[in-house]
Amino acid sequence: MIKIAMICTGTELLKGSTVNTNLAFLGGELTAAGLPPVLEIAVGDDCGELSGALASALRSADAVVVSGGLGPTVDDITLDVAARFFGLELVESPELSLRLEEWWRRGHRGRCPRMQYRQARCPAGARIIPNPEGSAVGYDFETVYGGRSRRIFLLPGPPREFEPMARDYLLPCLAGLNPEDRIFTTGFLAAGIGESAASAAVEPAVREFAVTVAYTAKPEGAVVYLSGSDAATVTAAVAAARRAVGEAALPAGVTGVIPELIARLRTEGATLSTAESCTGGLIAAALTDRPGVSEVYLGGAVTYSNALKTALLGVAPELLREFGAVSSETAAAMAAGAASRFGSTAAVAVTGIAGPGGGSAAKPVGLVYVAAVWRGRSSVRELRLRGSRRAIRERARAQALLLLLELMNAPAGVDEV
Ligand code: ATP
Ligand code: MG
Repeated sequence: MIKIAMICTGTELLKGSTVNTNLAFLGGELTAAGLPPVLEIAVGDDCGELSGALASALRSADAVVVSGGLGPTVDDITLDVAARFFGLELVESPELSLRLEEWWRRGHRGRCPRMQYRQARCPAGARIIPNPEGSAVGYDFETVYGGRSRRIFLLPGPPREFEPMARDYLLPCLAGLNPEDRIFTTGFLAAGIGESAASAAVEPAVREFAVTVAYTAKPEGAVVYLSGSDAATVTAAVAAARRAVGEAALPAGVTGVIPELIARLRTEGATLSTAESCTGGLIAAALTDRPGVSEVYLGGAVTYSNALKTALLGVAPELLREFGAVSSETAAAMAAGAASRFGSTAAVAVTGIAGPGGGSAAKPVGLVYVAAVWRGRSSVRELRLRGSRRAIRERARAQALLLLLELMNAPAGVDEV
């Protein structure tokens, strides 16, 4: 199995002012290609630290991908550090100089400044990785380090440059190195179940398979990942694990409730609306985060006050007076009101006490009601959530959508209230 390491350069990544999306992108793509990386290092724009990162990565890695620091300014040190580290000469390439001048003419209508020619340099013997989006190119070279042959890729840091270059050049290249040698990974969501419960169900069921198991906790449940070097074995192990988890197991490959819900609504030709109180639009935000969701999602209302619950959703004032805003009755009325007022086939609603204040003995912080409506049927669930305001709101968001999915999957005629 080829070992791949990634080094992300940039002081801003360490400070947290820039999120390391290059790692998230490449990690995801490599894993999907069966080549999960073995090591990742984030390092500031510092020559000594970057050399140290290369040495650390090369303790085990056969291939190292470095992102960032290929720009023309003094803090862009990757090319110089890599050349020095591997003992390669940097030569100004006439081809790259021409490219830069052309780039500059088109983008800036002037002469290319001297400083910019730093980007016309190339380590002797390296291949150029094309970059249609920026002035920097990438570099790909083989080198011997520690008595072994290694492959090094240097790519620019801006994600809009890094991502297409990784997709078009880097991934096919890495996939071609050892085509037989792959790790296959498939995940599924064990909806509404914690990690330890998922592990108790899954592990005995997959013991006989040559796979490794990993879990990720999400507000909507535990995602179970099974990995192994034989695709058929992984598929069989996933089937066994899903059987062991039972009804809570979403289909293989589905690791979130939202993609599954959207797919279900789409195949049913159905529409969805939302009514939110304590989640304040988190459900709407999560849904609209998905491109193409407009096909199924109509929109929703954030009704924090009783007056708006009545005005926008038609929740009866007497019902609010009798049962209170945080009650199963109000949640059900909010969902029914959204479906009828907004004209959707499905609706979800949330009302609850997210805290830290506002709780009482009868209605403590973390008491949340989620409700769902599906083709005239309805379901309400009381949740007793723990944690911070943020954790309570995120779990409420996930549980509301999960309730709708369950209602859609339940045989008609079975109403849970
Ligand atoms: P440039 O020519 O723009 O200087 P570069 O190859 O030198 O390109 P950097 O200077 O490291 O790249 O980064 C350029 C921009 O890309 C910065 O805004 C930086 O925050 C962003 N960036 C760099 N690395 C990452 C990363 N791993 N994830 C997300 N953004 C990144
Ligand atoms: Mg830069």
